[in-house]
Amino acid sequence: RRSWTEQEFQKALNNAYNKFKDLKEGANADYIPVLAEVDPELFGLAIVTVDGKILTAGDVNTEVSIQSISKVFTMARVIEDFGPQIIQDKVGVDATGMVFNSIIAIEMHKGQKINSFVNPGAIATTSLVRGNTYDEKWSLIKGTYDDFAARTLDINQVVYESEAATNQRNQAIAMLLNAYGRMYWDPIQTTDLYTKQCAVSVNVKDLAVMAATLANGGTNPITSRTVVSYQTVAHITPVMATAGLYDDSGQWIYNIGLPGKSGVGGGIIAFFPGQFGIAVISPRLDVAGNSVRAQQAIKYIVAELGANPFYTV
Ligand code: GLN
Repeated sequence: RRSWTEQEFQKALNNAYNKFKDLKEGANADYIPVLAEVDPELFGLAIVTVDGKILTAGDVNTEVSIQSISKVFTMARVIEDFGPQIIQDKVGVDATGMVFNSIIAIEMHKGQKINSFVNPGAIATTSLVRGNTYDEKWSLIKGTYDDFAARTLDINQVVYESEAATNQRNQAIAMLLNAYGRMYWDPIQTTDLYTKQCAVSVNVKDLAVMAATLANGGTNPITSRTVVSYQTVAHITPVMATAGLYDDSGQWIYNIGLPGKSGVGGGIIAFFPGQFGIAVISPRLDVAGNSVRAQQAIKYIVAELGANPFYTV
């Protein structure tokens, strides 16, 4: 199928909400201490269409930290400014098949065969953001996220400080990449920028608008503003399809068929190119770090809508 009515979207969201509202499987991330304190019951769902219709179910207002979903939009910034080749040459576009903060994934191929959606590749991607100073780079990153979300997003300062105090592993990743010549700005400052981008605060509607902007080829359907070009989106989409859910990316695309991206804050985004973006927030994660309920809800909604593009009907 290639088109759906608002009623069909709303019904699928409501059905998914009711079906999974009591699901309690999984656990909040706790390696970033304050994430363990987020209400695990939080459950919000949203679809935003490329013509700007917004459909929601559950808790649409409560915000979580964007975490790894940020990686999509920093990658978008870098490709938009420097073209797609830079990511292929300086970061990599291959799924690692390993956990998102794997050091072995760097070590196996001297930092070459990684991608922008696992921590090493994401930190390398952040190091490529245009600008000479921390503040210049940060304002480009944050401005890009705001443009994707169609509003000025806040930073969750508590999450930022909690992670900044405990992100020695990410610092080690940045230093190891640096040793292999695969970091393109100061590794410690870059890790701090990356940590801050992960602490940007979003609700499920923000995430769905961001996903819908990807679905709409880089033009925000709410503001009608072109945030990035469709060529940029065309180079993000395949990495979402192959590496959006860490070491469970194969299972995701096998079951759902849409490019997606998850974060340890509990959010998952996905989109159907040319049609709609979808987002679900639910903080309890599986062992790979993906929201249990968000995966199930999106799988259910995609099945109900018949929105798996690998099915040709
Ligand atoms: N900020 C988190 C980290 O670097 C993001 C990881 C994630 O969402 N998978 O560990």
